[in-house]
Amino acid sequence: MFLQVRQLSKHFPTRRGVLVALEDINFTVAQGEFVCAVGASGSGKSTLLRQIAGLDQPTQGGVWIDGQRVTGPGADRGMVFQHYTLYPWMTVQANVEFGLKLHGIPRRCRREQVRYYLEVVGLTPFSEALPRQLSGGMKQRVAIARALAAEPRILLLDEPFGALDLHTRETMHEFMVNLWQRTQLTVFMITHDVEEAVFLANRILALSAHPGRICQEIRVELPDRSLGVMGIKRHPRFHD
Ligand code: ADP
Ligand code: MG
Repeated sequence: MFLQVRQLSKHFPTRRGVLVALEDINFTVAQGEFVCAVGASGSGKSTLLRQIAGLDQPTQGGVWIDGQRVTGPGADRGMVFQHYTLYPWMTVQANVEFGLKLHGIPRRCRREQVRYYLEVVGLTPFSEALPRQLSGGMKQRVAIARALAAEPRILLLDEPFGALDLHTRETMHEFMVNLWQRTQLTVFMITHDVEEAVFLANRILALSAHPGRICQEIRVELPDRSLGVMGIKRHPRFHD
């Protein structure tokens, strides 16, 4: 299995004792799957994603990617957050390029990667724009391009469309399905919106608030969304 979460628990010490955010979470995600975890606010969704991203250490158990235990953040995982986290003073292009710089990718490769992924998210005409000139949906597409540009093996999204209005959210849902099909990415997404999960995911994990366990796992019958509709090829570097 590509992603394995085994006996994962996360407890936070509090003044009155211990807060159990996650307790004995077990699941796997295969390559190419689109899995959503749904749960109410406070059910531990962000905490779960942070453990997978390696931004935090679990109290017990752990996370494995391709058999390797996660001990910290890594270029194999691309992150997208609800509030875009773009640098307001940087152009769209520079925002996407920034992540690549952090990963030590040389300038000449960076330019090509940035161009390619802005094309993938349909923002080529906005390369020189600043984030404030873009709509919420466009900003989130920049954040997705930034996450993809480093060519991660899995995309991790924490309520990425939660700040968007209904219409933009629907547009982004279509965009995500399309992106997933074109790139055959492995996606793990957190949301409190069950309808969103049903539309996007091929499998849904439901987190219960108390005590932060997975209470149900649902396989979704996907409608026939035949591959390659858009005729855009997967980036050759995905085949490395
Ligand atoms: P969700 O994303 O589902 O809304 P979170 O993962 O953010 O839930 O939080 C789960 C529980 O863990 C909440 O009760 C929250 O208050 C608590 N929690 C999250 N992060 C911390 C932290 N760093 N310190 C203490 N408690 C935390
Ligand atoms: Mg959260």
